[in-house]
Amino acid sequence: MKIAIASDHGGVDLKSVIVRALSAKATIIDKGPADRTSCDYPDYAAQVALAVAAGEVDFGILICRSGIGMSMAANRYQNVRAAVCATVDAAVVTRQHNGANVLCLGADVVSPEYAVEIAKSFIVTPVDADARHARRRAKLERAGRLSDASGLMRDDPEVFAAIKAQTDQEDTEINLIASENTSSRACREATGSVLMNKYAEGYPGKRWYSGCLPVDAAEELARKRACELFGAEHANVQPHCGSSANMAVYFAVLQPGDTILSMSLDQGGHLSHGSPVNFSGKLYNIVPYTVDKTTEMLDYDALERQAAEVKPKILLTGASAYPRRIDFRRVREICDKVGCLMMVDMAHIAGLVAGGQHESPVPYADFVTTTTHKTLRGPRGGLVLCKEKYAKALDSAVFPGMQGGPLENVIAGKAVCFREAMQPEFKEYAAQVVRNCQVLCKTVQDRGYRIVSGGTDNHLFLVDVKSRGMTGKDAAAALDAAGIVVNKNTIPYDTESPFKTSGIRVGTASVTTRGMKEPEMIKIGTWIADVLDNIADTAVQERVKREAKALAAGFPVP
Ligand SMILES: *Cc1c(COP(=O)(O)O)cnc(C)c1O
Repeated sequence: MKIAIASDHGGVDLKSVIVRALSAKATIIDKGPADRTSCDYPDYAAQVALAVAAGEVDFGILICRSGIGMSMAANRYQNVRAAVCATVDAAVVTRQHNGANVLCLGADVVSPEYAVEIAKSFIVTPVDADARHARRRAKLERAGRLSDASGLMRDDPEVFAAIKAQTDQEDTEINLIASENTSSRACREATGSVLMNKYAEGYPGKRWYSGCLPVDAAEELARKRACELFGAEHANVQPHCGSSANMAVYFAVLQPGDTILSMSLDQGGHLSHGSPVNFSGKLYNIVPYTVDKTTEMLDYDALERQAAEVKPKILLTGASAYPRRIDFRRVREICDKVGCLMMVDMAHIAGLVAGGQHESPVPYADFVTTTTHKTLRGPRGGLVLCKEKYAKALDSAVFPGMQGGPLENVIAGKAVCFREAMQPEFKEYAAQVVRNCQVLCKTVQDRGYRIVSGGTDNHLFLVDVKSRGMTGKDAAAALDAAGIVVNKNTIPYDTESPFKTSGIRVGTASVTTRGMKEPEMIKIGTWIADVLDNIADTAVQERVKREAKALAAGFPVP
């Protein structure tokens, strides 16, 4: 057992007594002070709190005259639960119920002999696993979701209100938006950090500004981890979003007017793959490909014939609303036959690729782009992976080609997300996302709704609601009123306008992050069908909203 201990000048003598008494039972790390020279208690509390927060020690002990100042200071750190104890009873109960990990003692409150007794009881008492105490401890930690922004409550109440509203929404709704997820607290800490204060035009080791060593370290970690996670030769972590990641690739290898063969937007492609209203459609000659009208899946033979005819510079695969696996080996074959570059935009499936639930495009493609905030569960941002031979062209396309200073705070958030995605739990997460999607899809399908392409292989599926006489717009609005959030979406060969659409898109990345599994998917699928079966019935919407809220409460957002 390891214990970190510190005090202020008023607690130095008691500290020596405690150190002596506990040395036989534990390794004691004395963080000072060494004598009674006047000092500031928050400085010493910080040292012990950080050691506990980092998991370097099992317990902390802090001593001042009352114990109170020390506890206030220590409790400002994440994962620290500091308790002032004046009795053995209090020490036992706060361990059992609150899972306290820092003991604060008042040198003026307890005798040295009794203080030793309190400390000994504290470190031998286990945390009670009882569900009701566990639930309350979880709430202690979760207070942090809002307390992260609690400074704003006073400094800028209007912005705080928006953050609080988002927090409440995430807590109470069932989020099935396929492109969204909920990032970890660690990821949000890095993304909201002081790294945002630094200008760092250029790349690690080659910056245009001084003072870049700290951000160099963060960006180097992000680049190295991205390459390791995806088995890539080179990574550029600077693109501000998925669209700018795509722009970077186009700028690296295309001239204006060059031809890109890409999936059309209304069939599942993305704006930045050549929509006429997007820069990509304005700068390049875009030829769209479609899915097969009967299977609603990619037809690789048809794609090969079209590529041979069109002779694009880039064949771009990857989509925003394609529920099936993409055969990257086959796409590579086509690119080799035609002699074009292979680019894959894996924005939606990056987390499934990282978690081993979708074949990786990286061994096949010349360029792979992605967002970091969808199934990958990181901060809002972009990433490009490429073969080493394109590294220079890519890097100069990003900077100075299209961006100035990178967002180093977001890059640090990406580094955190890449590390998380390398853990075994993330593999389990990705597998559960796919399992959940299968069950949710089947539940809705079994209630008589036509699913585009007949099912799903990944984290999303498309419901053809037109086949049941409603538009995607109306379906999404009814579900929203019932606390279930999806988006309207065009389906292949849609006859409705993109504003109304014939479909809704449903994804399981976010609910799976909350810990929901197959039984919850059956409930949610049933609610979706209940609401859509009775689209004009507000009583059904209200009933579902109540039940959805109760379900959500049992699955806290990280
Ligand atoms: C979401 C998405 C993007 C880009 O998203 P941004 O909003 O620009 O970050 C790019 N490609 C595909 C396929 C996407 O689904």
